Amino acid sequence: MVGIREIETHIQTLLPILGVNKQRELVRLMYEIAKRDGAALEDILPAEKNLNFERAKKILLQKRYPRSFAAAPKNAFYLPKLEFDPAERADLTERPFSPKKIYIEKAVQDTPLADRARQMFPSAQIEIIEKKQMVGSANFSRRTETLLIHKEQYDFVKPCPCSQGNAGCGYNLINLGFGCRFECEYCFLQQYQNLHAVLLPANVQDFLAKIDQTNWRKGLFARPRIGSGEFTDSLVFDELTQYTQDIVPFFRARPQLQFEFKTKSVCIDGLLRQGGAENVVVGWSVNAPQFIKRVEHFTPDLTTRLEAAAEVARAGYRLGFHFDPVVPFDGWKEGYTQAAEQIAQSVPLDKVAWISVGILRFSRELKKAVENRFPENNILDGEFLLEFDGKMRYPKDLRQEVYAYFVPLLRKLFAHTQVYICMEDPDIVMPYL
Ligand code: SF4
Repeated sequence: MVGIREIETHIQTLLPILGVNKQRELVRLMYEIAKRDGAALEDILPAEKNLNFERAKKILLQKRYPRSFAAAPKNAFYLPKLEFDPAERADLTERPFSPKKIYIEKAVQDTPLADRARQMFPSAQIEIIEKKQMVGSANFSRRTETLLIHKEQYDFVKPCPCSQGNAGCGYNLINLGFGCRFECEYCFLQQYQNLHAVLLPANVQDFLAKIDQTNWRKGLFARPRIGSGEFTDSLVFDELTQYTQDIVPFFRARPQLQFEFKTKSVCIDGLLRQGGAENVVVGWSVNAPQFIKRVEHFTPDLTTRLEAAAEVARAGYRLGFHFDPVVPFDGWKEGYTQAAEQIAQSVPLDKVAWISVGILRFSRELKKAVENRFPENNILDGEFLLEFDGKMRYPKDLRQEVYAYFVPLLRKLFAHTQVYICMEDPDIVMPYL
């Protein structure tokens, strides 16, 4: 991979007098083109008589954004300073979840969750703390070395925070935990999580106590949907948390509501022990098989996820599938068609409650976090532009092309299932309502 110094030297040779900000933009563009195309710097920006900054930037923008350069507004290109911290690089060595240090808030030190943590991780150092505090490493990549078991006081239930201007689907959230042991290259926690530990609340009953007091939104659905899994995977720690043992019977007794566990894991023992519930949905995040292999590190492959899905369906749960994030990589039509057909062949169609589709989008801050933690990633090679909601997204015409192909395909394969688009521009969503 080409280095920053090499690019700076090439630019200085061509344009010796350049301000810091101008140099920074050209370095960023050359780096992204060289990384994506594997091209030599001399071919990306050759020497040219009377070359100046404006001309150089135009040449590079055209090469970096061949599809969208002509139509995109000039302020849609996000060109932050390129900088790497090798200490932030993700550790992709396969390892079990085994925290070295466990902090337990005094108020929950005698709870079953705290007891289980002591039993499951006997060699971990335990510290009882008065109240939740900043713990863990300064490095996100080391977050699973620390576990914090606490009593949640405030953040119990809330509407899904679809960013401003998006067409919402009316989802509702309870935040049971923070932090994850998978390493998906696009995960927003990389930039969002400032407490580098896995946090698990021991007072799930306090969350459930809020359910009957809340006026839930129904959105596109006949019954309100409530889900966990915004800041963690809903099931990945279930052997430890056993939240399923409280949540399933609670919602089984409230058929007017629907609860969804969102996961990429196959930690379904707790669900199977509880037996099924018609209004409890196990929602798997799914993707094209080659994408899962390359980008969603440590997660089970599609076939393994679908075997687990078929098993919980047999136990009496309904299923959800979330094609999110969809990435239009080379061969995306074949990849996503194969995944959709495999799902349709693997699970009972009448058990599929909903399917969502969302194309990769992310904040500016996440772009830098991904680049730093996964320098060899391919997911940032696409033409991302700053969009209507301040997020970085593929050009609108490309998103429309993807939805125009994939949503009708899913609606054909899953004729009795609600298929909807997640977190998108209302203009794009409208034809599919
Ligand atoms: S499973 Fe979800 S929470 Fe966990 S790393 Fe992947 S995207 Fe993040």
